[in-house]
Amino acid sequence: MKIFKYLGYFLLLLLLAVFLAVLFIPNPFRMMAPAYFGFEEIAPQVFMGPKTDPKIRENALKEIKAAEKIVFDFYGTLMPRPNIILCPDRACDDAFGKRGGRGVAYGKRVIRVNKKGLNSVILSHELMHTNLKARVGEWRTFFAGVPAWFDEGLAVFISKDQRFEATYPEEALKDLQAYDGWWQWEDMMKRHGWKAAYGGSQQLVKRLYDKVGKAGILLLIKRLEEGMSFDEALKTVKG
Ligand SMILES: [Zn+2]
Repeated sequence: MKIFKYLGYFLLLLLLAVFLAVLFIPNPFRMMAPAYFGFEEIAPQVFMGPKTDPKIRENALKEIKAAEKIVFDFYGTLMPRPNIILCPDRACDDAFGKRGGRGVAYGKRVIRVNKKGLNSVILSHELMHTNLKARVGEWRTFFAGVPAWFDEGLAVFISKDQRFEATYPEEALKDLQAYDGWWQWEDMMKRHGWKAAYGGSQQLVKRLYDKVGKAGILLLIKRLEEGMSFDEALKTVKG
C-alpha cells in the first residue's frame, strides 16, 4: 500500500521538524535538558544561568529547601524533584522562550521561576503542582482527572500565599466548580480576575479541609492515585 509508505515518510519528516524546532527555537521542551542550553546544574535537578551572582544562587537553594519542607510536611513524602529552572534575569527567555512568569510548572517534570518566584511560597506552590501530578499521573490530570480549582487551591493553601482574601463571591466559587478544566483557567481569570480565581480556589479547598481535615485531603489524593474519579473520591472522603 503506497499510502502507508507516504504516510510513513510524512511522519518521519514531521518528527524531524519537531526535533529541529526543539533544538533551534527557544521553547519549554528544552527545560527537560537545560544543560544542553548553557545552564549549570548547581544542585541535583536545579539549574541556573552560568553567570548568576553566587549570592542569588545560595539564596535560591535555601528557598528550594524551605519549599520542599513545606510540601514534605503536607504529604509526608516528596516525589522525585523536577528540573527546577531558576531565571533571575532574562537568560531563560533566550533559551526557553518568554512564557515564564513568576512561577510555572510543566506536568511533573519542570518548574520555572523568575526573580519574583525565587522564594519558598512560589516554589512550594509549583512543587505542590508537580507532586500532585507525579502522584495522580500526568495524563490523568491532563485529561481532566483533577479539577483546576483543587490543583490551584491546594497549591495556594499549602504554600500559605498571603496575597489572597479569605472569602470571594459565591458566584465566582460556583463558576470555578462548573468550569474546572485546566484549559478553562485563563478564561476564569479573565472573568473574575486572577485573585478571585486563585483565592476562590483556595477558599474551596479550605472549606473541604475544615470539613475532612488533612487526613481527608490526603485520602482524596490517594483515591485519585488509585484511579478513582474526583467526584467519586470526594464522596468517599466526605462520607
Ligand atoms: Zn498554580
